[in-house]
Amino acid sequence: MLKALRRTLITGPLMGLVRSTLPQIGDTERIALEAGTTWFEGELFRGNPDFAKLLAFEVKPLSAEEQAFLAGPTEELCTLVNDWTIEKEQDLPKKVWDFIKKKKFLGIIIPKEYGGLGFSAAAHAAVVTKIASRSVATAVTVMVPNSLGPGELLMRYGTQAQKDRYLKKLAIGEEIPCFGLTEPEAGSDAASGQSIGVVGHKTINGKKELGIFLTFNKRYITLAPIATVVGLAFRLTDPDNLLGKGTEPGITLALLPRETKGLEIGRRHDPMGVGFMNGPLSGKDVFVPLDVLIGGAEYAGQGWRMLMEALAAGRGISLPSLSVGAAQLSLRASANYSVVRRQFGLNIGRFEGIRERLARLTGHTYAMTAAQRLTVGAVDAGEHPAVVSAIAKAYLTENMRLALNDAMDIQAGAAIIRGPRNIFARPYTSIPIGITVEGANILTRSLIVFGQGAIRCHPYLQAEVEALTKRDKYGFDEAFMGHLGYLLRNIVRGKFHAWTCGTFVKVPNGTPFKAEYQHLGRLSAAFSVIAEAGLITLGGSLKRKEYLSGRYADALAHLFIASSVLKHAHDNGNPPHHLATARWALRHSLREVEQALLGVLANLPNRFVAAWLRLAVLPCGSKIKPHTDRMHDAVVDELLSSNGRLKDDLSNQIYIPAADQAGMGQLEAAYHAVVAATPLLARLPKGTTVAEGLAQGLLSKVEAEQLKAAQALRTDVVQVDAQ
Ligand SMILES: Cc1cc2nc3c(=O)[nH]c(=O)nc-3n(C[C@H](O)[C@H](O)[C@H](O)COP(=O)(O)OP(=O)(O)OC[C@H]3O[C@@H](n4cnc5c(N)ncnc54)[C@H](O)[C@@H]3O)c2cc1C
Repeated sequence: MLKALRRTLITGPLMGLVRSTLPQIGDTERIALEAGTTWFEGELFRGNPDFAKLLAFEVKPLSAEEQAFLAGPTEELCTLVNDWTIEKEQDLPKKVWDFIKKKKFLGIIIPKEYGGLGFSAAAHAAVVTKIASRSVATAVTVMVPNSLGPGELLMRYGTQAQKDRYLKKLAIGEEIPCFGLTEPEAGSDAASGQSIGVVGHKTINGKKELGIFLTFNKRYITLAPIATVVGLAFRLTDPDNLLGKGTEPGITLALLPRETKGLEIGRRHDPMGVGFMNGPLSGKDVFVPLDVLIGGAEYAGQGWRMLMEALAAGRGISLPSLSVGAAQLSLRASANYSVVRRQFGLNIGRFEGIRERLARLTGHTYAMTAAQRLTVGAVDAGEHPAVVSAIAKAYLTENMRLALNDAMDIQAGAAIIRGPRNIFARPYTSIPIGITVEGANILTRSLIVFGQGAIRCHPYLQAEVEALTKRDKYGFDEAFMGHLGYLLRNIVRGKFHAWTCGTFVKVPNGTPFKAEYQHLGRLSAAFSVIAEAGLITLGGSLKRKEYLSGRYADALAHLFIASSVLKHAHDNGNPPHHLATARWALRHSLREVEQALLGVLANLPNRFVAAWLRLAVLPCGSKIKPHTDRMHDAVVDELLSSNGRLKDDLSNQIYIPAADQAGMGQLEAAYHAVVAATPLLARLPKGTTVAEGLAQGLLSKVEAEQLKAAQALRTDVVQVDAQ
């Protein structure tokens, strides 16, 4: 009775009102928003994260077999490749290609039953991270077949015959895959592709065969120039409904053998001079049999859903790992160089300007490592965390850009002059690739992180939108009332934590990060209320307000990154040498969250609501202050400490070349020699040479030799190449 009255007087009329503000959500957008699962980011979104649950979550360690693969074939591959030569030759050497295929690097994700490695997401990430720290071109080559492409799609949707035909060969590189989605008129808006397939008959050798006439024009396709099996997305039409799926089944995926008649393949693009294979694909009225459709005719028209589901997890692995590889390399090389390089009579690591950059580089590397670990941990736990993956992709590639910029500035001229000795130029030139592929970052930040976050993490929004679309007044009434209760609870929680400065946020026992947990809990509660305010006051138009949705995305992303840092520190036992860096990273992320939320409030069109929100959930405005100089020093003292523990922990995923290898190998050797010789050097009064020290009995003969050798290495490592 009460419910009926409510429907008549309140939710019924409201339904009409809200419906008019609903954004138009097309099928492709709906499928993209609904793909994957939600995970811990859902709790952060809803303002009530359970930190005890987060800390109890087990990030699966690598198996013995996976560890052996990292220490064995992966290490060996890194030893074989030389990024400088790859850049010159614009391809991997044949022996590297052979090794990659033989050791199944192209089949990391293919199950063992099909001859692949069948590794976990954590192992997959670790392999990519290590290779990326040695050669971006090699990492991209290995990444792509293990990312969104034929292998993944066949495993999920392929018919048994397709799996049997392709997976074993893909695992050992007998088949090389590529996947073509992007077109000149369809980049970020990938669902708007103009490639088409028309179902029809063709007479071949006097026999009438049912198949598809494909016309397509794809570009930027990685591995296309050498691919033997070409994945293709196109819009399928079936004018005579021969497949029984209507006349417009929609986006469909197919696998074409390279020898398909009419397939134009082989030309190359030049992606920033980075020597991996990339190129266009095209064809006009190319006739293919029906069995090229991935999953067979049954999956005709399901292509977009298939792609979005595969992307929901995959996006969180490859590019975040590439970014962590670059950041860990930047960190280790910059720390070493700061000790080895001297100017004005001092190691440059003594200058505060350099220390500020080193602190930032260290803090970002810590946060990136933590976020990567938690994201792949979620995937290994069976999640397909679409929002977390989008966060990891966009924010870790952005941080890779920051890390490499800092590393370039610290090494200065030596980072600019290209040649075998150069450590950073090649990763640096490849930054825009990571930023652009698998969802360009501006789009991912502006449209996906908060847009998908709101639809997926909000407990009632999706149900409300569905009820509105279907004009289901019962469903809407139920969802709306649930929403109202949720809103009121969030307001009470948000205000309470804001006005008590997070004092009553439930914090894990004995943590050294009590204040940080309290801020995180307080800001998550504030986020949930401010997100509601945006959704309610702007309705569907929020989708077009990218200034605002970008800030919401920053807030949600840094809530997640801060949580990853806390989890990472905890899982490592909160060791003393991590504390200053974890604290630096937390200060950074918490401040990003707070500034993003204040930015929303400063720009929310409804000024009355904005003023109320500020008073209710952010009454003190900016509580998280910028890093202090002391915080920078605490990080850098630990980073440059001669025990090297922090540096080792934050570069434990990268490849370190042998001492005779130009670039990182030599720098590593020079660093160790300089550190070992430092106490000897300290014995010499200012201006005293080694020979004088020896003559005066300040050094033994052996010590004098050691000091000379260290000085020679120091001199050598600051040299650059010249042709
Ligand atoms: C080296 C390389 C390898 C690649 N490999 C492959 C591959 O193997 N297979 C494949 O199919 N594709 C591949 N791509 C394509 C890649 O996925 C696209 O480049 C990417 O999707 C962006 O498309 P676009 O370059 O046309 O940019 P555009 O779509 O033109 O975007 C231009 C800018 O607008 C922004 N933008 C677009 N829409 C919005 C919005 N609504 N809100 C805010 N900002 C927006 C974008 O973020 C971007 O900054 C590759 C690209 C490169 C460069």
